[in-house]
Amino acid sequence: MSSVYVLIDRPHGEVSEAALGLLTLAGQWGDPVAIVLSERASDEGCDRDSAGIEPSEMVALSRAGAVEIIVARPVGVSPESGCVVHSGELMTDAATAALSERRTAAELADVVLASGTPEGREIAGRLAVRLKAAVITDVVALLPVTSDSGFRVKKTALADAFEVIVRSTRRAAVIVVAPEVASAVWAKTCETAVFRDVVPRVRPLKCPLRMGTSAIRVVERRARDMSERPDLSKAKVVVAGGRGTRGDFTSIEALADALGGATAASWAAVSAGWCSADRQVGQTGQRVSPRLYVAAGISGSVHHRVGMQDSQVVVAVNKDPDAPIFGIADFGIVGDLFTVLPQAVEEIARIRGRIGT
Ligand SMILES: Cc1cc2nc3c(=O)[nH]c(=O)nc-3n(C[C@H](O)[C@H](O)[C@H](O)COP(=O)(O)OP(=O)(O)OC[C@H]3O[C@@H](n4cnc5c(N)ncnc54)[C@H](O)[C@@H]3O)c2cc1C
Repeated sequence: MSSVYVLIDRPHGEVSEAALGLLTLAGQWGDPVAIVLSERASDEGCDRDSAGIEPSEMVALSRAGAVEIIVARPVGVSPESGCVVHSGELMTDAATAALSERRTAAELADVVLASGTPEGREIAGRLAVRLKAAVITDVVALLPVTSDSGFRVKKTALADAFEVIVRSTRRAAVIVVAPEVASAVWAKTCETAVFRDVVPRVRPLKCPLRMGTSAIRVVERRARDMSERPDLSKAKVVVAGGRGTRGDFTSIEALADALGGATAASWAAVSAGWCSADRQVGQTGQRVSPRLYVAAGISGSVHHRVGMQDSQVVVAVNKDPDAPIFGIADFGIVGDLFTVLPQAVEEIARIRGRIGT
């Protein structure tokens, strides 16, 4: 079996569920090889091959089927230098180095799987250029390999309106799988509890930082204010605001808090600077599928809908009765969000008070 490389995403210093799902998927095509960035620089003086990766993460990687774990540790960076170690550039360098070492004539048909997060997409583009590989994004399934078909995948196209089957015309391919698809694969593996449980080889890889050639220099690091609200990608309730909020998200936040949900935004609200980019839902933002999605002051463009149309129940609040969002809403309220949302918050508080929760 040939190796299928998987770029392991560690968003909060912990291997993501999507990355574990990618390893499971990689097992359909070959031997999964995980490439992980260590948080410990190589010159920090710790000799353990897996230094910088938690033992629980190593267990998770092996349960997901990794036959080999390449632990890339940056060289030439001191902790004081302020360098962001988990950067797209460093992962691109690490993956290029890992694959170049192995690239014998027989192994030229390399496949690399990456998660379709903003960072994963960036790495995929950079890596494909370095490897002269094809890059295929928005992948939702890997198809069985036959002798004449090569590696084929199913991907969404034209804002999720179609699913198409494509194949790389290059021998090497970087395949970007939608993170929600990869997370669902891992959730299913956990449900069935059928783990591959192999004992992986752990291989350290020293990865020199090309500080001089980098187009980006980190000048400062600041901890981001962490919200008390649930993570948008996992929230059961999402309350989203659009241009109709005119930048005032107070009632969006109040309703999200009343329902114990996360806040989100349309592209218009993000590009106006009212919300951070990680709140954007849609084609170029996150895709969410909560039990309840409230869209307030959002017209419901196709680009927004692809990010939320899998929600179980959609409630739309809009002043315009002809707004396209009403076409996919289960419940529609024609009205001013600044009147409707506070009334909803009040009613939730009243009901909670009555039933004593
Ligand atoms: C390639 C591409 C990718 C894109 N990706 C995304 C994406 O990921 N996510 C995304 O959201 N968009 C995306 N867009 C942009 C998208 O096409 C729309 O422009 C955007 O979604 C509009 O945002 P909106 O609904 O907030 O604003 P608008 O379309 O301006 O709608 C505002 C709505 O608010 C209503 N309103 C105004 N005041 C009130 C009030 N007081 N109370 C209630 N309702 C009110 C109006 O009636 C209107 O329907 C993308 C576009 C392109 C070309």
